[in-house]
Amino acid sequence: MNKEIPFSPPDINESDIASVVQTLESGWITTGAKCRDFASRLAEYTNTKNANLFSSATSAMEMALHFFGVGQGDEVITTPYTYAATSNLVLHTGAKPIFVDVAKDSFSIDIEQVDNAIDVNTKAIIPVDFAGYPVDYAEIKSIAEQKAAMFSASDDSSIQRTLGRVLLLLDAAHSLGAKNNDKTIGSELDFAAFSFHAVKNLTTAEGGALVYNDIASIDNGFINKELSKWALHGQDKSAFEKTTGGWQYDIDLIGYKCNMSDISAALGLSQLMRYDAILAKRKAIYELYNRMFSQYEEFIIPPFDSENKETSYHLYPLRIKGYEEADRDTLIMKMKQIGISLNVHFKPVVMHSAYKRLGYNIDDYPNAYNMFKNEVSLPLYSKLDLNDAEYVAKAIIEYCIK
Ligand SMILES: *Cc1c(COP(=O)(O)O)cnc(C)c1O
Repeated sequence: MNKEIPFSPPDINESDIASVVQTLESGWITTGAKCRDFASRLAEYTNTKNANLFSSATSAMEMALHFFGVGQGDEVITTPYTYAATSNLVLHTGAKPIFVDVAKDSFSIDIEQVDNAIDVNTKAIIPVDFAGYPVDYAEIKSIAEQKAAMFSASDDSSIQRTLGRVLLLLDAAHSLGAKNNDKTIGSELDFAAFSFHAVKNLTTAEGGALVYNDIASIDNGFINKELSKWALHGQDKSAFEKTTGGWQYDIDLIGYKCNMSDISAALGLSQLMRYDAILAKRKAIYELYNRMFSQYEEFIIPPFDSENKETSYHLYPLRIKGYEEADRDTLIMKMKQIGISLNVHFKPVVMHSAYKRLGYNIDDYPNAYNMFKNEVSLPLYSKLDLNDAEYVAKAIIEYCIK
């Protein structure tokens, strides 16, 4: 009988369950005190002044673009090496995603090519911390500032006029707890968006957050109020505020409906409390894989080794030299037969049918294709036993080393 090793089950313990049950019994289950508490602890953890919670990272980023006034006729630069959420949400606003290839032998967007891609229509850049590994925030910020003269603010957006350059929105769906210059990331660009989807490092089942400081001279308190409105039909008071501040409210803008519930926040709070231990366990597995695979020249271990950056150990993307897509897919099938679940991150967005129909073509992104064709993601989660991780690595080594 083979052992079953799933790819990424959630880590839910007794205290998580107790926290959720307590909220269920409290008489308040939608956005309320638990959300307020989770948001403030998240801001503290990510070295930022403020946080807003949403039903997903997708809606968090989409609301950030609405807040900034991004829409029809605008362009948003992002990477094809991501989940479709990142570019789908750009399309939802009516703007056009401009994909910029990853750098050679890297999973991160090529910053030199970003520089060339910025034009008068560019309103935002959404880089992705793939697998939890930080992009070069300082370089991206410096390019955005150098290109500020080219930025053309919409007449009806005082926020765009105040910032005076493209918005820098980090897709940090993978990178909660990653470090840049020894500091937990979150405050480096204008916004960082985290995902608390069931497979992410910290989960609320479904959920997301935006963290931020003041942006140029735009006060974080103002940003907080505007984002809350965007997530709740433009309503100027939350349901909770109505219980204390009277029933009267105004619909101030035509917003969406993507706030977080207190049930989710209760789970998030409990997970955040023990997040250091979750990260430490993920790191131990990651390092075990690195030790084992680096002994063979057939493998390319993740290019996440840097003096001033530390990944959040969200994914372990292993590449196999000489492999094409079909070889990689056979490896995944063979491992599945012995109970080991592997995955692929990511099929570049432009390879999906809906994007091909929009006219995008993978031939324009050769570096992304080279990273994708021979990549497999290994089981990496806090409940994975180190012996089981070793078993996974041994099985892959035995299969790949002829
Ligand atoms: C998971 C993920 C998202 C979306 O997060 P949701 O909370 O599911 O909306 C966005 N970007 C990347 C890179 C992701 O992996």
